Amino acid sequence: MKVEDSRQTRVCRRRRGALAAGLALAMATGAQAETNVLTHFTLIDGTGRAPVANQALVITDGRLSWVGPASKLKAPKGAKVEDLKGRYVLPGLIDSHVHLGLVNGITQDLKYQTPENIEKQLHLYAAYGITSVQTLGTEKDLIFPLRNAERAGRPDMARVFTVGQGVVFKGSYGGVPGLDQSVATPDEARRMVDDEAAKGADAIKLWVDDEFGTLSSRMPPAISSAVIDEAHKDGKKAIAHVFYYDNAAELTREGINAFAHEVRDRPIDATLLQQMKAKGVWQIAATLSREASFTYTTLPFLNDPFFSRGVTPEVVAELRSPERVKKLGAAPNFPKYAPTLRNAMQNFAAEAKAGVRYGMGTDSGPTARFPGYFAHWELDLMVKAGISPLQAITAATGHNAEFLGAKDIGTVQAGKWADLLVLDKNPVADIRNTRTIHKVYIAGRKVPTIWQICTGRPAGACGSAR
Ligand SMILES: [Zn+2]
Repeated sequence: MKVEDSRQTRVCRRRRGALAAGLALAMATGAQAETNVLTHFTLIDGTGRAPVANQALVITDGRLSWVGPASKLKAPKGAKVEDLKGRYVLPGLIDSHVHLGLVNGITQDLKYQTPENIEKQLHLYAAYGITSVQTLGTEKDLIFPLRNAERAGRPDMARVFTVGQGVVFKGSYGGVPGLDQSVATPDEARRMVDDEAAKGADAIKLWVDDEFGTLSSRMPPAISSAVIDEAHKDGKKAIAHVFYYDNAAELTREGINAFAHEVRDRPIDATLLQQMKAKGVWQIAATLSREASFTYTTLPFLNDPFFSRGVTPEVVAELRSPERVKKLGAAPNFPKYAPTLRNAMQNFAAEAKAGVRYGMGTDSGPTARFPGYFAHWELDLMVKAGISPLQAITAATGHNAEFLGAKDIGTVQAGKWADLLVLDKNPVADIRNTRTIHKVYIAGRKVPTIWQICTGRPAGACGSAR
């Protein structure tokens, strides 16, 4: 494909340029490593350990080379030292359920799925402190070279993990218009899984839903079991979109690795909780922010600068327009969303209490489900559902990385990439303090935060940064 080729050439050229510049710098400085030191912060390391005061860390060429008490810090010669007294350092957050390049503003169309638009969204995720995302099944093949280029270097935007295209049963719910993702037989399903695995998918996605019964079918067990079995043969985890209790129970029997939404048709019971635990099924994304967003005709955060800095004023105006409000309120499914959210929140709390493993994911990316902002809303809703702020942060960092099999992100420990979120206020005291973003680092380098961004307006029009 032409688009991808030209992009790869550009990336290569950029990398050659960077390499030459690096070489020149190394000759001038005597091959010094790039070393940065952060000190005197409270560390929330992503492992689930309670915050520890007065810590320090050393970043060498983008990776954490040392983490420990500030009193034991030996700053390498020539290192740039930054005092973060009174601040909090966390691993960069990971959103385990996103879709990239589906929208321009809030207009959804696959034609917007270009490398440029995807990169724009990955920069926005990064600005919100989301330093990695997992895309779940609506990306064209252009996602693979983009991800590979990131993995080969030190990205300045959110890192991508991807399932490529997810598997949809013909006539049922899932996928997006314009991508051919549907299969009708177990053999077709297995072929599609093998194709995505061969392209380099990090995991395999399938949808089992019928959109409140408005579609004629859901993926039958003969197909879902084939998808899961083939994914495992290819060495990949299988992640399912679910809605109904019965499908979740069936998929658990079939060996599914994770659910990308909660069961939402009814409360989950001890039997299914026990089966999920016994089989090691993760609730990788509760997507409470997704369910919550559907319950509003006017989203509740349009005046919040933490939100509005990330979108154009035209988008905010569109979200407020009386026509839109009327249309959303009149939609036949609208009354179903409030009970759906209630079930999702109760079921997430029940899973957490029962000891089912969970991560954090939003399903942001489709229209009016906003990259980055939704991750902070999700953390807030997870805490409202009944877990502690520390548990929510651990879900979004160490636990998500563990599910992804991403060994060099997710915690603040020596050897990992320095993907860091620095906050002004303690998120363990109040989860909404994840919004007090002071700095974001990806691979040891600062990237612009949302408080430095003012989308679609002249710089400074959103007021001074925090
Ligand atoms: Zn999704």
